Amino acid sequence: SDNHTLLRLEGVCARYGEASAIEDITLSATAGSVVAIIGANGAGKTTTLKVASGVLKPAGGDVWFDGQRVTGERTGILVRRGIAHCPEGRGVFPYMSVEENLLTGAFTVKDKAATRQRLEYIWDLFPRLKERQTQHAGTLSGGEQQMVAIGRALMSSPKLLLLDEPTIGLAPKIVQQVAELIRRIRDEGVSIVLVEQNAQMALDLADYAYVLEGGKVRLEGPAATLKTSSLVREAYLGI
Ligand code: ATP
Repeated sequence: SDNHTLLRLEGVCARYGEASAIEDITLSATAGSVVAIIGANGAGKTTTLKVASGVLKPAGGDVWFDGQRVTGERTGILVRRGIAHCPEGRGVFPYMSVEENLLTGAFTVKDKAATRQRLEYIWDLFPRLKERQTQHAGTLSGGEQQMVAIGRALMSSPKLLLLDEPTIGLAPKIVQQVAELIRRIRDEGVSIVLVEQNAQMALDLADYAYVLEGGKVRLEGPAATLKTSSLVREAYLGI
């Protein structure tokens, strides 16, 4: 049904060696929504996404996806279930063509015809990338490389897209293009968890948002409500 909980992290803790990165994080993403996670450097945003995508095993707590407990499952299994992760720093392969980069995102798809069909969908979503399909990804602009990274994540036909700082380092005009793209992807039925340092952009886009501080959830609520909170206005929106 619509509006069911697609992703839920319950009391999740994660550490790197001895150092705790996140503690007792509980958050949910409803199907069809954009959920934003905002916070300062080191607040634990990236770590939270890594636990959701299976890149990092939690030291405690549980992850639920689409009604099933998936705590500690490998990324390949989670991709097949419908979670795609577009990592911080984009991670495009600079010496591979745009098309080859996209195809690496289809590693779970065995059916060649389905892969071609998905590629057509990506070209339709990003006409600029279609024009540059044979070009080395490393020669593209930052904004175009971000589109490659998002396109690659979409190749697995996910139900949920985890986006880690998609607008970092991009010019304001390009940030707006990425925001419109995220809206379009959401409107086509893919739920999104968006990690952003650009709190303004994230809260404009999101339905619901979490503020992380020191590895914990400091505040949560509908994005429109958070925009009016004095903590968010002073610490994150510079108002
Ligand atoms: P940023 O925006 O800078 O990426 P963030 O909110 O995403 O920040 P995380 O990257 O999740 O924060 O980091 C949370 C904590 O974990 C920080 O204290 C950070 O120093 C630590 N940390 C992150 N990655 C590692 C790592 N690979 N090894 C050790 N500590 C790490």
